[in-house]
Amino acid sequence: MEEVRTRFAPSPTGYLHIGGLRTALYAYLFAKKQGGKFVLRIEDTDRERYVDGAVEIIYKTLREAGLYYDEGPDVGGPYGPYIQSERKNTYLEYAKQLVANGGAYYCFCSKERLEKLHESGATKYDKHCLSLSKEEVEARIAAGEPYVIRQNIPEEGSTTYTDMVFGDITVENKDLEDGILIKSDGMPTYNFANVVDDHLMHINYVIRGVEYLSSTPKYNLMYDGLGWERPHYIHLQPIMRDATHKLSKRHGDASYEDFIAKGYLKEAIINYIALLGWSPKDNTEKFTLAEMEQMFGLEGISKSASIFDEAKMRWLNSQYIHELSDEEFYEKAKPFYAKYQYLNDFDCKFLSGLLKGRAETLDDVGRLTEFLTLFDNFDLTLFRNAKWKTDEELAVKILPDLIGICKDKFDNLSDSLNEYALNSGLKKGQVLWIFRIAITGAQNTPGGASEMAELLGKDRVLSRLETVLKRLQ
Ligand code: GLU
Repeated sequence: MEEVRTRFAPSPTGYLHIGGLRTALYAYLFAKKQGGKFVLRIEDTDRERYVDGAVEIIYKTLREAGLYYDEGPDVGGPYGPYIQSERKNTYLEYAKQLVANGGAYYCFCSKERLEKLHESGATKYDKHCLSLSKEEVEARIAAGEPYVIRQNIPEEGSTTYTDMVFGDITVENKDLEDGILIKSDGMPTYNFANVVDDHLMHINYVIRGVEYLSSTPKYNLMYDGLGWERPHYIHLQPIMRDATHKLSKRHGDASYEDFIAKGYLKEAIINYIALLGWSPKDNTEKFTLAEMEQMFGLEGISKSASIFDEAKMRWLNSQYIHELSDEEFYEKAKPFYAKYQYLNDFDCKFLSGLLKGRAETLDDVGRLTEFLTLFDNFDLTLFRNAKWKTDEELAVKILPDLIGICKDKFDNLSDSLNEYALNSGLKKGQVLWIFRIAITGAQNTPGGASEMAELLGKDRVLSRLETVLKRLQ
């Protein structure tokens, strides 16, 4: 069997959005599953949309996400260069071949003529230049007249192909336009470059967004015209923000990098993105990239659009976070600990053990420790607890004893607080509640009384207990 070769062909327009990353993921998985090759090609023929640094973001993101490509601009390969602008001189030759066998023609129409045509109600180019003789074309090119090369689409009949997800797709040829293949600056359009490059790079499975589903017949006419074998096609439905809107960066929908910055783990992002348009046979939802490489199959690809649900990704992320060791959590959360400057004063290694089981994102180290910044002037009614029957009065009564315990027995705090409860006829829960509120000022904390004391340290605990006692008196 022929080796499976897929490609991801992004245009460097600034960031790798979630939809693009999903296309890359599926193309990667499909190739890996069949032991084939995954190729990265940069489609930068549209210089107006080019954004500096965007190519590096693509390399970095794919690598970080684990989607290693076998061939690509920065890794090389037998069919390079893998950047379209560096292949500029390749395309004209093939366009000329198409011209020679009638699949394309030179067009000299001015902008003005095309505008008039459009104003007159024409919905597509009228093949005006198709009738030019070979001699006339040559003379006008020799005279330096600017030209484009257009595809010559048959006026009748239809073109059909079989998409591996959507089945047979038929388009009436009359609905297709004689689109430009080579622009007046000599650069190919996407429409032409993708065909030439997919052929020259031996791509036999084209996986991409559904927006190309209906232009694919045009591409197939080019393959046919050049005597090349058509690839297989797999078109993917979009990822939606809601029932009617596509996910898009322009509307503030996050990219891979944004989600990393929000504290998502790359494993969770990739896992979640995989589910946006594909589900495995057994409907499991949590799997690693390596597992997906074994499980992936076209039969699981959805024919309908998927809705991006951040709450679900957050849930998945929390599952991955809870599986980390305390040490791993600490390492990964470091940039977030640094972001919340007040945490500089605390032992974030120790904190990691407390936060790991409660955090849904790495950024939650902020949310879960915010109480540390709110201690001053906390609401003293927090001492009231209906279950434990505690209140400010009881607090003011026992706080001097708690201060004494902390002074003498801080290293053995848990046992000492228990012992104190026993000896004073109070319930353990009462003592612990009052103690924890007094040192944290927070109803919910990522750990119990003695863990919070350990986090804060003896000096801070004593000074807080004394402050609170004063406030209560
Ligand atoms: N450069 C195109 C895009 O970014 C790629 C389409 C394709 O995969 O053929 O949309």
